Amino acid sequence: MSGDGVTRRGILGGGVTAASLALAASPAAALLQARGAARAAGQRMPNGLELPATPPRRKRPDSVGFAIVGLGNYALNQMMPRFAEAERAHVAAIVSGNPDKLQRVGDAYGVPQDARYSYETFANIASDDRIDAVYIVLPSGLHADWTIRAFAARKHVLCEKPMALSGAECERMIAASGRANRKLMIAYRSHFEPYNLQAMELMAQGAVGQLRLIRSEQSYRMGPTSPSQNWRANRALAGGGPLEDYGIYGLQAALYLAREMPESISATAFRPGADPRFGEIFAHVSSQLRFPSGAIAQLATSYDSSGINFVDVRGTTGALIMDPATSYSGQKMRLEGRDRREFTPGDPSVQFARQLDHFADAIRGGTRIRTPGEMGLRDLRLFEAIYASAAAGRTVKLNPDGTMRS
Ligand code: NAD
Repeated sequence: MSGDGVTRRGILGGGVTAASLALAASPAAALLQARGAARAAGQRMPNGLELPATPPRRKRPDSVGFAIVGLGNYALNQMMPRFAEAERAHVAAIVSGNPDKLQRVGDAYGVPQDARYSYETFANIASDDRIDAVYIVLPSGLHADWTIRAFAARKHVLCEKPMALSGAECERMIAASGRANRKLMIAYRSHFEPYNLQAMELMAQGAVGQLRLIRSEQSYRMGPTSPSQNWRANRALAGGGPLEDYGIYGLQAALYLAREMPESISATAFRPGADPRFGEIFAHVSSQLRFPSGAIAQLATSYDSSGINFVDVRGTTGALIMDPATSYSGQKMRLEGRDRREFTPGDPSVQFARQLDHFADAIRGGTRIRTPGEMGLRDLRLFEAIYASAAAGRTVKLNPDGTMRS
């Protein structure tokens, strides 16, 4: 430690996440840390799943073929059905550790038998020309490993949020992308969603005057569970918990609405004792970001309080209120103050297919990726600063790239 900051080197050891160290004060957490790396393993079919009655068709001969890695709730209930709405992307292959899922999902999506891979046979995708890109939709602690394996097979990668669980993992993913000369995009869907896009535009036009304060919260109450039953409660797979999973939307919104990087962060994280849900992860994380302009962002996220997902931006002449702010659908947004207005810029559910087409365009046409690996790395660095501040109980100063100042 030095001055009133905490050095990055002091907090982070090789490949150890900031969240792990913030949690490692407890004996249970230390035990888990000794247990070793998490592995990809087949899980049962999500409940209440409806598979397509007829397989979706690819729409164009130059459509980008994706291998979907991890057939869980988000892949099966949200993203795979959205390929039918994409113009330039299609499901070419699936990867799962559960043979029953491979069969049922493969049949429903018309995936040929020889394009259904297990985690053990994944490396064979290297010689499968039907696959241009890999979509990593595994538990977050597996993103780095499987992204690097996909680059080793010389495929492009669309990786779910959070990009990984540490800045060091993100750096390895970006380096692997460079070595393979293949593209890396992080699936930050709000950058393709009409309400959030309009909010970005409004802030760029100065719709609230000079920015003073952003407040945001993403919370829900996790049902009874434990780290062995649910990867979201397991530190090796989920990091510190709600921040990486849900609070990431608040951090993202604060950054794309403030349009500047914070220069310091102070944070607090809470883990109740004797609750199996929070044996390895935090229940709540709250942070305050100070920007060079003087604006402040207050971000809260919880796995143990009633559901909310809002962003409230206050400036010198008005306020922009989004509630819900970053959901799959149902967004609401209004401007208050000098110019009062409600906005209905379009159907939020286009965000899923638009992000697929955006990546397809980057692969086929070389267009710029709006949400590249560098953005995911930036966010993980800020998470590290949040956990470092919470662990040290003091403000952490930042460099412009989000690394902690020594
Ligand atoms: P999930 O638990 O429903 O599915 C995870 C899947 O990963 C499992 O079904 C299984 O197929 C596979 N898996 C492989 N190894 C596993 C292991 N050791 N433990 C558990 N599962 C394993 O989770 P999910 O909600 O689909 O989340 C998957 C990813 O998608 C996460 O990174 C999450 O952050 C992200 N996600 C993104 C959004 C979004 O809006 N962009 C929404 C939900 C989830």
